[in-house]
Amino acid sequence: MQITKANYYDLDTEREYMSRSQYRGFQRCEAQQMAILSGEWVEAPSEAMLIGQYVHAWCEGKRDEFISEHPEMFTKAGTLRSGYQQANEMIATLAADPLCMYMLEGQKEVVFTADFAGAKWRAMVDVYNPQRRRIVDLKTTRSIWEATWSERHGGRVSFIEQYDYPLQAALYCEIERLANGRPEGDWPDYYMVAVSKDSVPDKEVIDLRDPERYQKELDSIRGNMGRISAVKAGELEPIRCESCDYCRATKVLRGAVYYADI
Ligand SMILES: [Zn+2]
Repeated sequence: MQITKANYYDLDTEREYMSRSQYRGFQRCEAQQMAILSGEWVEAPSEAMLIGQYVHAWCEGKRDEFISEHPEMFTKAGTLRSGYQQANEMIATLAADPLCMYMLEGQKEVVFTADFAGAKWRAMVDVYNPQRRRIVDLKTTRSIWEATWSERHGGRVSFIEQYDYPLQAALYCEIERLANGRPEGDWPDYYMVAVSKDSVPDKEVIDLRDPERYQKELDSIRGNMGRISAVKAGELEPIRCESCDYCRATKVLRGAVYYADI
């Protein structure tokens, strides 16, 4: 199967190839991820996701196309919904900053595939600039500087750690390296252009180059992929997390819970 932008998100592609989001899905809840792969569970995109896609469409030079394909951007009265007004502010913020625009120069939405950790993987990078050996990820985020609670880390962490962006950087650099047949550790530079949803949007170019961290992230993926591949192949029973939307929707009560256990 040849992976292109057109079939990148197809269910058949998901079944054959791992991706960063599928890996995170298995980490969060195996049962939900398996239900997504079987087609039993479909997650409608949230407005936050659509707003991210709108900003990406601008980056790709496809803003008008996105608007014509998304009439839900407008109210019945024909005015732009507030989330998208905000997105326009975010786009204007990026467009006005020379460093952001410099970092966003390159090929847009480029797909790479590679064999890694005993599975086939795919990655679609927002901006690929082979001349400058650079991958750039464009991210819309609620805030760039606000720390939020993370159960996994047992403390407050930046949005970078909250959403596992070092893992994404490591994985995308490794898939790009393997796809281009370069020697081990010969990774491209990886940056993020982040723009916030503050009423006056903030922006930063974030340097995510950290080879030592990449090794740790890639090792942890290698360590987890044995089980994930076995679950995905139907050889192991997926574990339910009992707290995601899928687990709540499919929960069957078998008795009362004692009040002190709530
Ligand atoms: Zn779950």
